[in-house]
Amino acid sequence: MEVFIEPIGRLMNEFSKLPGVGKKTAQRYAYRVINMSEGEAREFAEAIVNVKKKVKFCKICGNFTEEDVCEICKQRDDSTICVVKEPKDVVALEKLHEYKGVYHVLHGVIDPMNGVTPNDIRIRELLDRVRQGEVREVIMATNPDVEGEATALYIAKILKPLGVKVTRLARGIAIGGELEYTDDVTLARALIERKEI
Ligand SMILES: [Zn+2]
Repeated sequence: MEVFIEPIGRLMNEFSKLPGVGKKTAQRYAYRVINMSEGEAREFAEAIVNVKKKVKFCKICGNFTEEDVCEICKQRDDSTICVVKEPKDVVALEKLHEYKGVYHVLHGVIDPMNGVTPNDIRIRELLDRVRQGEVREVIMATNPDVEGEATALYIAKILKPLGVKVTRLARGIAIGGELEYTDDVTLARALIERKEI
């Protein structure tokens, strides 16, 4: 006999698909949902379906957007492109209110050990942007771990012949650390003190 009746077990199973949610937490979440009003539960479920329906990738920078082109690409100075691994890195940098340029989300970093080659991330799209536009500087803001550093150097090497300045966030972010978990002061300083590579 199953410990949990089917509908509860099923909901727990869905919650346990989320990062960092183990069996105990999944149970706690499921019990919380049971205590919601029907309206609350519907709103919760609809928010999940809605996010899948409405959120897409900006066709220029690859960040999340509701339209074809995101607000940042529409409004900001596109002579500076900040290259990041994932959409959450854009959030980390935007929180600083320091950077006025646009972004390019790679959706990954080069990681040969896990079979991720330069063709698997959005490097070609970055090259196209640099070739077409009036780009003066590309800031490599991948995480300071092995894959992030290798990706930054790889991209710098292929951008250099195009005559664009390529910079890297200054040291200060813990080696092996992630932008997302770096405090705002440190991250802002790493951005301001970026160095040409
Ligand atoms: Zn965009």
